[in-house]
Amino acid sequence: MDEEKATHEEQHGQEEQHTHEHAEHEHGEGAQPRYYYGNKMARIYLQALEDVLGKNGVNALLNLAKLKHLINNYPPNNFEREFPFEDFAALNQALDDVYGPRGGRGLGIRGGRATFKYVLKEYGAMLGISDLAMRLMPLGMKLRLGLGVMAETFNRSSDQVVRLEEDNEHFYYHIVRCPVCWGRKSQTPICYVALGLLQESLAWVTGGKNMSVVETTCIAKGDPTCCFVIDKKPLD
Ligand SMILES: [Zn+2]
Repeated sequence: MDEEKATHEEQHGQEEQHTHEHAEHEHGEGAQPRYYYGNKMARIYLQALEDVLGKNGVNALLNLAKLKHLINNYPPNNFEREFPFEDFAALNQALDDVYGPRGGRGLGIRGGRATFKYVLKEYGAMLGISDLAMRLMPLGMKLRLGLGVMAETFNRSSDQVVRLEEDNEHFYYHIVRCPVCWGRKSQTPICYVALGLLQESLAWVTGGKNMSVVETTCIAKGDPTCCFVIDKKPLD
């Protein structure tokens, strides 16, 4: 009985500590409005990072990002908007801090690419995309549909805001409110996860065509949006 009580108190103490740490972290972000990813989206990203870095690698990232409370305790698999943009940004900043800007970029892109298969599995039904129906479409239509579905997924299931534009040669995928670089500063675009996710989703909708996707502007360097420019013609 006493032992049980002690264990409970110990756990309770830890919980308090975590909550406190988290509160401090939130407080550090000042009076900015709070925006959230759905739990499922954050959970998927952590799973994808595990595929790339291994479990120990992800745990190290979570430690560095001051997100210890998520170690062996990923967000639940539901659509509730409870995962703060600050935490998502901290996770991506930690990737750059641990592996250096170049390593962080490569791993971020791989993490984004790995995320796509989970997005397809978890959101595919909701999106109502059928591989069969898309197979016969012209390339431009496939790209427009694929990008539209991706934008809608984020707009509908999270506080991330995406806006699409196009001209004769390009699509412009603008992330207007971006959790990847939320509150971060950089001289160059840094939304690698979003880049990888776009690359992989476009490879999927085009049946493996090599499409050029470049992040040309980034809110972290003072631009109004994080803009990804997609050529309408494949590279090869
Ligand atoms: Zn961004």
